[in-house]
Amino acid sequence: MLEITILSGKGGTGKTTISGALVSLAGNAIICDNDVDAADLHLLLHPKIKEKHSFYSGWNVTIDSKKCVSCGNCESVCRFNAIRSFPGENYDINPYSCEGCRLCERMCPVGAIKSEQNTNNKWYVSDTEYGNMIHAQMEPGEENSGKLVSEIRKKAKALAIAKEKKYIINDGPPGIGCSTIASITGTNKILLVIEPSKSGLHDVKRLIELIETFKIDTFAVINKFDINIEVSEDIQKYLAEKQIPLLAKIPFDKSMVESMVLGKTIVEYSPESYISMLIKQVWNKISI
Ligand code: SF4
Ligand code: SF4
Repeated sequence: MLEITILSGKGGTGKTTISGALVSLAGNAIICDNDVDAADLHLLLHPKIKEKHSFYSGWNVTIDSKKCVSCGNCESVCRFNAIRSFPGENYDINPYSCEGCRLCERMCPVGAIKSEQNTNNKWYVSDTEYGNMIHAQMEPGEENSGKLVSEIRKKAKALAIAKEKKYIINDGPPGIGCSTIASITGTNKILLVIEPSKSGLHDVKRLIELIETFKIDTFAVINKFDINIEVSEDIQKYLAEKQIPLLAKIPFDKSMVESMVLGKTIVEYSPESYISMLIKQVWNKISI
């Protein structure tokens, strides 16, 4: 089984468009949307949800003001300064500062502090035209996206083994955060989708530095290379220095936009187009 992860240094490079196109070419894959903070692969693949699971991403900790005797223990033990007290007012927890360690709960002499597992975040097993898709939905501001990515990847792998699939295709998150690290760990190949802009080059350099620590076979495409030829050439030079094979330079084409508007992959929308041919070449090179 070959696990391929598609990544970009930043958002808006066309990573999901390329991921969707590769999925529609693979045919024998489990699909996993690792971009759990801003999932959008479902817009192209239209999954039909079969299973729904909760992801326990942390603890919601609250103080019952009726029980609190204002001893101040909780405020003094919280290392994250998440507990606020104002003269003449109740003690209160700032949810944006609270790390959910639950130490305050243990230190409260009257049991005024309660914690509940946060179950706002969900992950799903779905059917698509191209096979099972594992995807998730994190609420804004929620934490532990790396842990959620690890969880859905584990499910994707189990399904791939059970169904004897040849590929797992991960649409990874942008950037170099925890969810990217969770997407890279243990994957077999990485495809970088790079946008020809100064920020695109800067961000992909940071991503490549991260990937180098994992020593994984890495390939690249430049998407919309012709919107900035000069930066595209800089990207090519950088990739050559890093010995990362450039599999395709994909030109800007309005059919890409049209396909997205219709909720189709470019390979479905325009199978004989030059862009589809380029993406087929990318798949043929990366899938062996
Ligand atoms: S759970 Fe931990 S971080 Fe949150 S308020 Fe209590 S002591 Fe502070
Ligand atoms: S430790 Fe308990 S009783 Fe003391 S201030 Fe905090 S919530 Fe109130």
